[in-house]
Amino acid sequence: MNLTIGYLYGDLMNIYGDTGNIIALQKRAEWRGIEVKLKIKSLKSKIKKGEIDLFFFGGGQDQAQGIVASDLESSGKGKIIKEEVEREVPLLAICGGYQLLGKYYKPAKGPKLPGVGLFPAYTVASDTRMIGNIVVDSQFGNLIGFENHSGKTYLKDGARPLGTVITGFGNNEEDKTEGCIYKNAIGSYMHGSLLPKNPELADWLLKKALEIKYGKEVTLEPLDDPLETQAHITAIQRFL
Ligand code: GLN
Repeated sequence: MNLTIGYLYGDLMNIYGDTGNIIALQKRAEWRGIEVKLKIKSLKSKIKKGEIDLFFFGGGQDQAQGIVASDLESSGKGKIIKEEVEREVPLLAICGGYQLLGKYYKPAKGPKLPGVGLFPAYTVASDTRMIGNIVVDSQFGNLIGFENHSGKTYLKDGARPLGTVITGFGNNEEDKTEGCIYKNAIGSYMHGSLLPKNPELADWLLKKALEIKYGKEVTLEPLDDPLETQAHITAIQRFL
């Protein structure tokens, strides 16, 4: 089996260790004998339907977000990503990437940036910097990550959060929701340490990617994970 991971704007949107998520996906696939091709899809790239089996979109500063928001719209890549998510291709988007996949992001300065509209959510810049370690109760068990954002994301009626904040800020520090999940797409404020410290979530994305690509149920071989499990447990104990 093989997989193609699409790193959306990987040259522009990759702060706070976001590339760690790509490495975790690549390694966990390769350790199981699944060949991985990594494609960076940025300003000059095109995305063909069916080309990418798993999308990753990292965080970035407002300036990069402005450039990326207009490219998503003008190049048509936003529309294709949305259509691919509709046919259940998995996606993970963090912070700035998550914000651009909602309805819009209103930065502190300048006009609203249009979003792809894949997540039923919108984001508005605030005066609070929400920074620190975060623990979230989710369908994947407790997730641990690191957040750093001033944008506050609000979910629309009927939107499903990724989880409930146990400690930290999450979407907006007000309603205890963190992230959003739509079909097999996940948006979250948890950065680069997310998949390395939460291998179950990495495996869920890989399993979904293979199932959609090959059109059959896939069972991933278990990996020997004592270090990942210990990192997960220690980090949670430290921050709770
Ligand atoms: N503009 C965003 C915010 O501060 C994105 C930051 C990020 O991706 N870390 O809310």
